[in-house]
Amino acid sequence: MPHYYVKSEANDRGEHVVHSEECQFLPNEDNRKALGDFAKCETAMGHAREEFNSVEGCQTCCPDCHSG
Ligand SMILES: [Zn+2]
Repeated sequence: MPHYYVKSEANDRGEHVVHSEECQFLPNEDNRKALGDFAKCETAMGHAREEFNSVEGCQTCCPDCHSG
């Protein structure tokens, strides 16, 4: 199972993007929070929502959780 992270800095829509550890767009260590190891990005999104009000799945590594 991949480890998931949520970016600490919001994007221009105020959303905090969730990435898996292997994503080429994974934020630097000082700009992300570790969420844990999950089989599905949906689970990671749930944990990210406990940290931030507005979250979004990365289009590249979490397409199933990306709402567009
Ligand atoms: Zn990503």
